[in-house]
Amino acid sequence: MPALLRFAPSPNGYLHLGHALSALLTWDAAATLGGTALLRIEDIDINRCKPEFIRAIFEDLAWLGLAWPEPVLHQSERFQLYADAANRLRDMDLLYPCFCSRADIAAQSTGKDPDGAPLYPGTCRHLSNAERIAGLERGDPVQFRLDMTKATARTGLLTYTIVGPTILDRPQIRYARPERWGDVVLQRKDVPTSYHLSVVVDDAAQGITHVTRGKDLEAATDVHVLLQMLLEMPTMRYHFHRLVKDDTGGKLSKSKGSPSLRDLRAQGWTPADIRRRIGF
Ligand code: GLU
Repeated sequence: MPALLRFAPSPNGYLHLGHALSALLTWDAAATLGGTALLRIEDIDINRCKPEFIRAIFEDLAWLGLAWPEPVLHQSERFQLYADAANRLRDMDLLYPCFCSRADIAAQSTGKDPDGAPLYPGTCRHLSNAERIAGLERGDPVQFRLDMTKATARTGLLTYTIVGPTILDRPQIRYARPERWGDVVLQRKDVPTSYHLSVVVDDAAQGITHVTRGKDLEAATDVHVLLQMLLEMPTMRYHFHRLVKDDTGGKLSKSKGSPSLRDLRAQGWTPADIRRRIGF
């Protein structure tokens, strides 16, 4: 089976040096494996994703010298497929409606998820059916969460395969611990999906064989492996790459004014300068 990889940015801002490293590593890994790298636009966030950011992704990647097969998959065109996957989980009695606001969760939570966000305290898991129906009939804003305890009881111990530090290194088996995330949201209040659900549906639908992503998404992969098992979808090989730091050794971020690739291009940087800066 020829290797198929993907670079899947979310167009809610311009690409920065971290994206450049992720994209270049993905194309390099595809070439090393004799396979292909796809571009996928992860634009489920209908409020923050903008057409100008999508256009800029195409331009910036081409400027870096990368090419990809067409057509490019846009997640915003696939909401029905994600809703279908959620419905399969609903039929398995693994999803429940949650009416909590962010403030409710922050006030009641006693732990943190691997990203440092308040862990969902499970409030709505305990609602009666009558309370659920009343909330849905009133049209209260609702999101749907995975019942993590039931889901993990169903799958038992989960393992997946990682490769690294390079894509050609010997595969290693790793245990997934999705329970660290608590009852994750699989259908948000604004769209009938979430990052976790869409990424799992599309990696399977596109026949991705190797997922290359930054170490910041390493823990989230545990949720993806769980969903793949529940939805009877294949699990890929995972390669988690280093992250690019800013000049002070901190995380790149828009709020701290980290420059985008197009800012750097406007300042006269060349693709070779970008590669040097990110050590590629
Ligand atoms: N769309 C995600 C992001 O931009 C990454 C996709 C993935 O590797 O799962 O952070």
